[in-house]
Amino acid sequence: MDFEFSKEQRDIQRAAREFARGEFINIARECDINETFPLSLLKKAGDLGFLGVFIDEEYGGAGLGFLEHALILEEFWKVDPGLSQELCSVTFGAEEFLLFGTETQKTKYLPGVVRGEQIMGFAITEPDAGSDTASAMTSAVEDGNEYLINGSKVMIGNGSAADFLLVFCLTDPEGKSRSSRHSILVVETDRNGYEADKIQGKMGLRASDTANIFFSEVRVPKANLVGERGKGFFQLMQFFDRSRAYVAAHGVGLAQGALDLAIAHVKERRQFGRSISSFQATQFKIAEMATRIELARTLTHKACWLVDHNKVDTKIIAMAKWAAGRTAVEVVDEALQLHGGYGYMNDHDIERFYRAAKVLEIYEGTKEIEKLIIGRRILA
Ligand SMILES: Cc1cc2nc3c(=O)[nH]c(=O)nc-3n(C[C@H](O)[C@H](O)[C@H](O)COP(=O)(O)OP(=O)(O)OC[C@H]3O[C@@H](n4cnc5c(N)ncnc54)[C@H](O)[C@@H]3O)c2cc1C
Repeated sequence: MDFEFSKEQRDIQRAAREFARGEFINIARECDINETFPLSLLKKAGDLGFLGVFIDEEYGGAGLGFLEHALILEEFWKVDPGLSQELCSVTFGAEEFLLFGTETQKTKYLPGVVRGEQIMGFAITEPDAGSDTASAMTSAVEDGNEYLINGSKVMIGNGSAADFLLVFCLTDPEGKSRSSRHSILVVETDRNGYEADKIQGKMGLRASDTANIFFSEVRVPKANLVGERGKGFFQLMQFFDRSRAYVAAHGVGLAQGALDLAIAHVKERRQFGRSISSFQATQFKIAEMATRIELARTLTHKACWLVDHNKVDTKIIAMAKWAAGRTAVEVVDEALQLHGGYGYMNDHDIERFYRAAKVLEIYEGTKEIEKLIIGRRILA
């Protein structure tokens, strides 16, 4: 067993840290307040090779693993969750192409997102189909050489920014089981009948784009089917086995960033004539936070390592996602507490981290859904 990173992995970590510190710090608060994301940052990240490193070299990626992707995201999230969310989500769904796409689809859609010139996303959630993805009703009906899509999706990352989206559609309503009725289609967002309504006022991650989207008689060629018709649900579950592993890294990064802010503050702040870091209560808090983060980090790295070694373990991945999300929420709460009233003000970064954390227990599978997955696998 070897817990050491390779030189290449340490170099990637260092480069990601330097990029995030150099590029995020000066703009993060403003982007959060204005709910904007500078496309120049996306292009820079693409030029430096930080986007979708798990994508094969022949499609423009670095041909690395989900562990390296997670290391980059951890470093990004330590500095600012909102900008990091957008930089992660521009390749969100690329895994589906790698696992199930045709050669033509991979060549057409992947290189642009890796370069930071195109943006994608994955539209699954609907008003009446959240955790219960198999209830999705957005329909795709075969019509000659095309699919005709009607319906709506909610809370979709990059819904109003994407060039194209993967859309989880109901193609076979009479399918034998609830899990054999759906398919995944690519929809270019400049097609007639596509509309997006950007959501303003999210609790956190405000630099990232989230939108409700609508399909009214949207036509796509049959060649836009990704994978097999009627197998969309199984393909989606395999996607979650990858995405949840690195979304756990969001939680680890956010928690570490919050701890770093708390450490800086308690060393600086004096009360009762001494540094508040000298109080044993403070030291206990710091010790507990650091230990929790290390636990979540170890589990996250293990989950990614298993994926990279073709040993996908849905239970470990769900554990990592749940543990890292919980760690982020608990750590950022204590980190803000250590800031006292200053932490409640938006001129202190911890306020932004605090608002960002909660979603880590909601998207990519709520904490309850992760625990269902874990419990069922243990008891099966
Ligand atoms: C910022 C943000 C970005 C997002 N980005 C995307 C995106 O890019 N693409 C996309 O498709 N979606 C996206 N989503 C949607 C997200 O995936 C859903 O919000 C999430 O899956 C939960 O669905 P829901 O909100 O409908 O909650 P519900 O499913 O209605 O759940 C409500 C509560 O009930 C609980 N619950 C539900 N079923 C069970 C059960 N069987 N057992 C126990 N408890 C249960 C849940 O755990 C939760 O606590 C995003 C959401 C947010 C907030």
